[in-house]
Amino acid sequence: MSGPPPPVDWSAWWERPGRSGVLTDFDGTLSAIVEDPSRAVALPGVSAVLASLATSLGMVAVVSGRPVAYLGDRLPGLPTVALFGLYGLESLRDGRLEVAPAALAWQEAVSSTARRAAAEVPAGVEVERKGLAVALHFRRRPELAGLVAAWAAEAAAGTGLLAQPGRFSVELLPPLRADKGTVVEDAAAGLDAVCFIGDDTGDLPAFAALAKARREGKTTLAIGASSAEQPQALAGAVDVMVEGPEGALAVLRELADGLAGGRGGRSAGAPA
Ligand SMILES: [Mg+2]
Repeated sequence: MSGPPPPVDWSAWWERPGRSGVLTDFDGTLSAIVEDPSRAVALPGVSAVLASLATSLGMVAVVSGRPVAYLGDRLPGLPTVALFGLYGLESLRDGRLEVAPAALAWQEAVSSTARRAAAEVPAGVEVERKGLAVALHFRRRPELAGLVAAWAAEAAAGTGLLAQPGRFSVELLPPLRADKGTVVEDAAAGLDAVCFIGDDTGDLPAFAALAKARREGKTTLAIGASSAEQPQALAGAVDVMVEGPEGALAVLRELADGLAGGRGGRSAGAPA
């Protein structure tokens, strides 16, 4: 069991919830890491706390490298929570699915690469079709990391797709400037206070976007969810580390409890 949540200063979120937002990664942040990525599920209580936050905050969003459909399956019935899939290349907000037009042009390259991968990569490497991207997972065969990286690099060179390393995986995706940082940057433009929670390499651009927003005068909070596999750069990129998905859920509950309890009125004399 995790101990008490670490001190996180939510005062700006409590004071002006309508001008505040929380964006969070899914895998490893709201769900435990599992060997078969298709079996990842949200921790119990995640949907309830996201729904609760969305009743007061200006924005609540889940931002993932997964497709929107994957997120929607795992977080059903949350129309007020925005889902950003494939690093923002697709989004579902207020029931409307949007796909970046530039990404559609790469659909055939992604499909043919997925077919080739299924035929060519060794057994034990899982080929995950993600619509506008394809991921090669070598968690079960970590000794094949180099081989998979070389295969992906060659496929990228041949198609123009981008090969992006992840945790025990490489993804091939359209070479567009979409990453979690662009999602956070867009969100921050409409907010005074913005938080991002993440656990992995793909979250680092989101934390960089928070740092930029802070330099521009926004209140920001970067939270890292720890894991045995966390990238070295994570701790240095965040304001606070919490203990895995349970820790992330605990700080989100703290935020939600404060909003529900009207703690915003309490902190007039508190330091900013
Ligand atoms: Mg993650």
